[in-house]
Amino acid sequence: MAAPAPLIDTDEDPSFADLLAQRPHLAVHAHDGLTMEDVPLARIAREVGTPAWVYSAGTLRRRFRALRAALEEARLPCDIHFAVKANPNLAVLRTLAAEGAGADIVSEGELRLALAAGIDPAHVVFSGVGKTMDELRFAIGRGVGQINAESAEEVAMISAAATALGRTVDVALRVNPDVDARTHAKITTGRSENKFGVAIADASALYARMSATPGLRPVGVAVHIGSQITAGMAAYATAYRHLADLVRELRAAGLPVERVDCGGGLGIPYRHEPAPSPAALAGAIRTTLGNLGVRLMMEPGRWICGPAGVLLASVVIEKRTATRRFVILDAAMNDLVRPAMYEAWHGIVPVAPAAFAAATSPCDVVGPVCETGDTFARNRGLPDLEPGSLVAFLDAGAYGAAMSSTYNARPLAAEVLVDGARFAVVRARQTQEALLAGQRLPDWMG
Ligand SMILES: *Cc1c(COP(=O)(O)O)cnc(C)c1O
Repeated sequence: MAAPAPLIDTDEDPSFADLLAQRPHLAVHAHDGLTMEDVPLARIAREVGTPAWVYSAGTLRRRFRALRAALEEARLPCDIHFAVKANPNLAVLRTLAAEGAGADIVSEGELRLALAAGIDPAHVVFSGVGKTMDELRFAIGRGVGQINAESAEEVAMISAAATALGRTVDVALRVNPDVDARTHAKITTGRSENKFGVAIADASALYARMSATPGLRPVGVAVHIGSQITAGMAAYATAYRHLADLVRELRAAGLPVERVDCGGGLGIPYRHEPAPSPAALAGAIRTTLGNLGVRLMMEPGRWICGPAGVLLASVVIEKRTATRRFVILDAAMNDLVRPAMYEAWHGIVPVAPAAFAAATSPCDVVGPVCETGDTFARNRGLPDLEPGSLVAFLDAGAYGAAMSSTYNARPLAAEVLVDGARFAVVRARQTQEALLAGQRLPDWMG
């Protein structure tokens, strides 16, 4: 018997129409071309310039609510802490804070952003393998709700920082469950060879020691096994089962466990990857951790904000060689590094209305940076694009602006928030003056 045909031909890129059908905040209008909510992207490009990051407030809210609803449906009381590193824009954080999101932070800077966005410090979790003494003092001084400790060495630092301030801080122990989330090697975090967390085998002894350590109160355990997880719930379920066993072991030893932090990592379909749903994740949590009587916590980043953003860019020139067609944009790897760093695929769609109906031909979409790695896509089907034509990179709301740099002395791009028919610049394009402002010549150079 012949094998059943796959539902989706994975070698074929999705069409523009297929890409837009999955992204309800984007639509093509006969006159205005590509719009986000009720705002034509061409208008934003005209008024703000390119490259520019554009975020849909409606989509941020819709996705946050969908995640919360899935958890409520599964009867899981769960605090959602948005992973600030995915998108640290203040207006994005404020939008999510207004929905009731707390924050998962990994630096003093992210804590300052979360507080500036109006997030209660009690709803902030401080994660990360290398929190400095200064950062710990700052965070404890500001009253963060929980610190996730990643090593015995760090437990000692947290204790020193808290006792110096005369404070007691709630600490969860991040364990490394040694599971393979089957995502890109650069964003898997739950294998024993990864730098994150404490081995399960060492966790209960350290947790017991924590309860006798001054300045901290052990409140629970945490995991985070990786990012852009699309390979189903198996890795999550295994990690959570290990965590549940650990909770039972700790309690059997008379150690209180009040909270379990389930981490983030839920993937999104950039191309046509299977899209794990929040309901599936809630189900995996329900069956493994649901009966422990703990307060659950979650730290999603990408799933909430990734699909909410686009990177808007202009064509500088089309260059044709004997064998290739290159579409050269004014955006580059310094803006959106994910293709260069993770071989990531982003949908790239035109903005002008006529371009959606025009014939396409394969091209390489590249930036102007002096590296071959500055390639966004190879053999991508796009219509002919005159200089000045606009394109939008889809799903650029997570790890986009957050990871951008000024490589090649290129200023950081502007960020824009769309909300219904309104839009506003929520981070000004960096000026050439600001780009150079920190540089000094030593006085011996005259
Ligand atoms: C990066 C990170 C997250 C968020 O990951 P996403 O894949 O964006 O959901 C959550 N928790 C921790 C500890 C992280 O490092």
